[in-house]
Amino acid sequence: MKHLHSGKVRDLYELPGGELLMVARDTVSAYDFVLDTLIPDKGRILTQLSLWWFEQLADVLPNHVITTELPEGAPAEWAGRAVVVRRLDMVPVECVARGYLTGSGLKDYASTGAVCGVPLPEGLVDGSRLPEPIFTPTTKAAVGDHDEPMTFAEVRATVGDDVAERLRGLTVEVYRRGAELAAERGIIVADTKIELGWSPEGGLVLADEVLTPDSSRFWPADRWTPGRSQPSFDKQFVRDWLVSPEAGWDRAAGDPPPPLPPEIVDRTRAKYVEAYERLTGRAFV
Ligand code: ATP
Ligand code: MG
Repeated sequence: MKHLHSGKVRDLYELPGGELLMVARDTVSAYDFVLDTLIPDKGRILTQLSLWWFEQLADVLPNHVITTELPEGAPAEWAGRAVVVRRLDMVPVECVARGYLTGSGLKDYASTGAVCGVPLPEGLVDGSRLPEPIFTPTTKAAVGDHDEPMTFAEVRATVGDDVAERLRGLTVEVYRRGAELAAERGIIVADTKIELGWSPEGGLVLADEVLTPDSSRFWPADRWTPGRSQPSFDKQFVRDWLVSPEAGWDRAAGDPPPPLPPEIVDRTRAKYVEAYERLTGRAFV
């Protein structure tokens, strides 16, 4: 196995046959830092949740999964968090759909009245539901850089008119399906990011991870109150604790965050498990 890339959460290896092995780690990030403390089972939960979504979305578009069987030479402890996938030529656009306004979308709206050039009604606040889901693509930044918003015209200039339309259509459809299904289980999908790639035969294929708490904002529906920042389903305990006096973290000084106490780790792990179990209706073993 040849190591190709390590991102914030996944390691990528090339297998002798040319396929890729994607291995998710248990790392968690908050406030733009990757924390030193691991959340046990997080990699396995995100991998299993993506696999489940790939199946739910199979009639929308094909995905990159080949097998979940570990290839020869892979350590046994990768079981459940490693997937053998087709190597794709990745589309150079991060495909984001939003059904609710928050985060960088809210900032864009506050200064322009639009998100990525999509005009929105007046009077929306943090957490507002949008009249309909919108496509808000960004650039794929190199490691360390921030993804920048793209207008639809910029996407067209990058990939061509026809492909741009298809990216928008597929992204919004994945969002709609995900949001609809999650809503039945008491979870709001505020927004989500997907990554698409070209197969050697020339088709668009869903890659990376899909509709996980890392690629999406999940909010507990019963606590949704527009006009403030919403509690997030997964990392809220981490974020809250990091900015509490107990953590003693001088964020403004640019210090790295302190290690998380065991109780915060346990509660965060439980949230990830809960998201998986609620969405899939399966027990996490
Ligand atoms: P971020 O933390 O912002 O997501 P990242 O995307 O670089 O950073 P990871 O998600 O950890 O980090 O790594 C996964 C990498 O693998 C991404 O660069 C993604 O574009 C790439 N990738 C995912 N699926 C495929 C595939 N089927 N073929 C080729 N590259 C892929
Ligand atoms: Mg990624």
